[in-house]
Amino acid sequence: MAANSYDAIVVGSGMSGGWAAKELAERGLRTLVLEAGGHIDPAEDYLEHEPVYEFKFRGLGDRHHERARQFIQSQAGPYEEQTKHFFVDDVDNPYKFDPAKPFIWIRGRHLGGRSLMWGRQTYRLSDLDFEANAREGVSIDWPIRYADIAPWYDYVEDYIGVSGEALGLAHLPDGRFLPAMELNCAERVVRDALAEHFRGERLLTIGRCAILTRTHRGRAACHYCGPCWRGCGTYSYFSAIHVTLPAARATGRCTIRPNSVVHSVIYDERRRRVTGVRAIDAETMRPLEFRGRVVFLCASALESARILLNSPGRSFPTGLANSSGELGRNLMDHLMGGGARGTIPGMEDHETFGQRPNGIYVPRFRNLGTRHPAFLRGYGFQGGAGRAGWARGPDEPGFGASFKHRLRTPGPWRFTFYGFGECLPRRENYVELAPQTKDKWGIPALRIHAEWSDNEEQMLQDMSVTATEMLDAAGARDIQPFVEHNAPGLAIHEMGTARMGRDPKTSVLNGHCQAHDVKNLFVTDGACMTSSACQNPSITYMALTARAAEYAVERMKRGEL
Ligand SMILES: Cc1cc2nc3c(=O)[nH]c(=O)nc-3n(C[C@H](O)[C@H](O)[C@H](O)COP(=O)(O)OP(=O)(O)OC[C@H]3O[C@@H](n4cnc5c(N)ncnc54)[C@H](O)[C@@H]3O)c2cc1C
Ligand code: SF4
Repeated sequence: MAANSYDAIVVGSGMSGGWAAKELAERGLRTLVLEAGGHIDPAEDYLEHEPVYEFKFRGLGDRHHERARQFIQSQAGPYEEQTKHFFVDDVDNPYKFDPAKPFIWIRGRHLGGRSLMWGRQTYRLSDLDFEANAREGVSIDWPIRYADIAPWYDYVEDYIGVSGEALGLAHLPDGRFLPAMELNCAERVVRDALAEHFRGERLLTIGRCAILTRTHRGRAACHYCGPCWRGCGTYSYFSAIHVTLPAARATGRCTIRPNSVVHSVIYDERRRRVTGVRAIDAETMRPLEFRGRVVFLCASALESARILLNSPGRSFPTGLANSSGELGRNLMDHLMGGGARGTIPGMEDHETFGQRPNGIYVPRFRNLGTRHPAFLRGYGFQGGAGRAGWARGPDEPGFGASFKHRLRTPGPWRFTFYGFGECLPRRENYVELAPQTKDKWGIPALRIHAEWSDNEEQMLQDMSVTATEMLDAAGARDIQPFVEHNAPGLAIHEMGTARMGRDPKTSVLNGHCQAHDVKNLFVTDGACMTSSACQNPSITYMALTARAAEYAVERMKRGEL
């Protein structure tokens, strides 16, 4: 058993687990990272430069396999023949939901988690977000404010490298940016039109993203090859594989154990502490036990909740650290899919060069000053402009030389605004164990109950209206508003299932991601979020994780943990 004892155990090696591993190990703790999935070898597993003719189905995918084994995962945007190994097998990893209220749960089970496939969009939250629940009397107040997390955003951004443009907006704070990527000519037309027409109310900027625009901490600048979701051999975008896990290993104090599926957390009723975790070796199915003085759950919002729900005991019959009854509740995802597209006339003598792996961003403009009559909170737009080229082949009718010639000629400049909106926290959106359904390793699966409220429905409609207004202001032609009714989960920003709060009666964690009920237990992934804001959330998970790690180590040094 001594060989299996560590100062800290981190469950999960993705976006938040990588940060926990790095911070805890660099601060002197002998740290064990338990990762359910297998090892990733960039030389073998990254396929961003592999031409489609090297793939059996020429990049179009094996529909039989998708229908049989990845019927949920294949709904994710970057799922394709080249990336299917980055997504879980849905038969081995089942979960339940009411078919009338689907939740699309997109997962990556491998070293680095979803930090391999993420879209790298990186936006800070602000006090507009941290104060919203209290101001509007919705759910509970966040126990932290922007000033608490701002230095940790700085710290994380400095380390990972985030490119973007400073705007000086209070509601979308600037970060420590590397040089911004450039807008293309059609995007500049739209940016200038918005500035003139909306006079500062609506702004367009280049996306803020965790991609290097110059060499940074030994990693090369991006060379604009494009398909980042297949991996990046030059480590130019942030992922745990490229940045945090190597830093953790470099300390000589971090052991990373792939193929280790954590089953539950071990709680000592007498000492009122967690003492370690139970796991299963994913390959041999052998049960394992590891001891740790402190446990960090970073398995993702739903998986961390699942582990705690699967760790009941005398003191916590409904799940570990669940005296509040809030564990598994208040599930949120971002609302996605309202917008518009149109043609920006002219500039037909201009083309783009390379594949910029980034788009535009329109920061939230609803409910800043005046209150919108139909909904609370707001949304931002992502998207961008491009000219259609060869890729439109499957959508265009024709054959022969004239068809090829037509495809070789770039099409007009098309512009899309695609909205991402805030989802309100509601107790009725929750997860519980479905004990009859077990995963491949015999661990009870989750049953997910989630649906949008009227607030989100109203916001979705508004996205298509305001996107249309902006395209109209930019002189776009052939404007097509759209409203996609995407199921919750599809934005892949699930969060909130072990929320932070000041009061142990209404929240699972305190402002340092520490369980109110169990002082040496931390949950630092998206489960800790008290509201969702509308910004892509991962930078916030990383900052909160680094902050929690410092707090835990300081308390351990003082003998308080
Ligand atoms: C296609 C796509 C695009 C995205 N785009 C963006 C974006 O642009 N911006 C943004 O901010 N976010 C984006 N996201 C979301 C982002 O990836 C997640 O917010 C982030 O990865 C969550 O971090 P995490 O550490 O909680 O979980 P993950 O990164 O998923 O890591 C969790 C890890 O825990 C492991 N694990 C799970 N259960 C267990 C267990 N029982 N035992 C041991 N290990 C376990 C998993 O295998 C995994 O490696 C995107 C996600 C996807 C898939
Ligand atoms: S576009 Fe840039 S970040 Fe993306 S895979 Fe290519 S080099 Fe890496």
